[in-house]
Amino acid sequence: MSLAAARALLLSPLGPVARAGGREHGEVKVSFEFFPPKTDEAEANLWNSIRRLEPLGPSFVSVTYGAGGSTRERTHRTVRRILDETCLQPAAHLTCVEASRGEVDDVARAYWDAGVRHIVSLRGDPPGGTGVGGVYVPPADGYANATELTAALARIAPFEISVGVYPEKHPESPSIDHDLDVLKAKIDAGATRAISQFFFDIDAFLRFVDRARAAGITIPIVPGVMPVTNFKGLCRMSESCQASVPAWLANLFDGLDDDPDTRRLLASSVAAEMCARLEEEGFSEFHFYTLNRADLVYAICRVLGVREKVHA
Ligand code: FAD
Repeated sequence: MSLAAARALLLSPLGPVARAGGREHGEVKVSFEFFPPKTDEAEANLWNSIRRLEPLGPSFVSVTYGAGGSTRERTHRTVRRILDETCLQPAAHLTCVEASRGEVDDVARAYWDAGVRHIVSLRGDPPGGTGVGGVYVPPADGYANATELTAALARIAPFEISVGVYPEKHPESPSIDHDLDVLKAKIDAGATRAISQFFFDIDAFLRFVDRARAAGITIPIVPGVMPVTNFKGLCRMSESCQASVPAWLANLFDGLDDDPDTRRLLASSVAAEMCARLEEEGFSEFHFYTLNRADLVYAICRVLGVREKVHA
């Protein structure tokens, strides 16, 4: 293709997908979140996804943490396997739920000794949930919130520590200002990156980041992007974390319950467009809630210009 033709393509009205084709490698950083699988089949699916996404060279891959011994053991096992069998940097999620301070500290020390250097420090929600707006009751001898947990992690070892933020406000919080005070406290305790809850209201996310910057918060605030193929599932999730679901998204998925192929195409278009808009606003780091599926996220990464960096 001639230079003039390539330039015409880049400036074409096709938008983000065409523009991505001409982007230099390495401009955009991505990270991927996985959850620990419950069955052998789910485990095989998770590992297929990890293998598919590994060559994209993400900054890190994070593994969520549930409540209850067996769930937690699955997280530890998945994190260990990522360390042992891949060239990926795992970030282990850790919560304060149903554990004493000593138990949480032991998990953190074991992670450090195993080679884990990055923790996503969270308060967590109790199993079964407190209900929207419900009150979280910390264990008597446990950490009360992510601020306390972050301070403890920083005392245990020089972990890289990421924390959660909520562009549309945490459900239990009285205001965004309160959330920003909490974020500042988490930064003072040792957090160096914030990862957002998933969202579809980009303006709400941008307003949140503007307010954080105006409040003197300078750490990266990485947008959490969730490609949605199951709209009903999204509505359930959104209700519990109070992330708004816009009417245009409902309209897009309306009548497609029995059409998974179209839903998947729409999911990657919506997420890719969100990322493109965020990029235009100056964001160059994206955290993907993969739901343990690689294909959509892989395609979105292509749109962002992220290409294979290593050969697994
Ligand atoms: P915190 O920062 O402790 O805040 C919780 C609430 O308490 C907020 O309303 C805050 O305003 C308030 N608060 C905090 N500190 C203070 C203080 N000092 N004084 C007064 N009020 C305070 N959950 C899981 O169980 N496992 C996971 O793996 C997991 N991964 C997640 C990953 C990301 C990126 C995000 C955004 C969330 C994740 N969650 C996970 C969900 C999270 O645990 C819940 O949203 C939980 O309700 C809040 O966690 P937090 O770390 O933000 O809590």
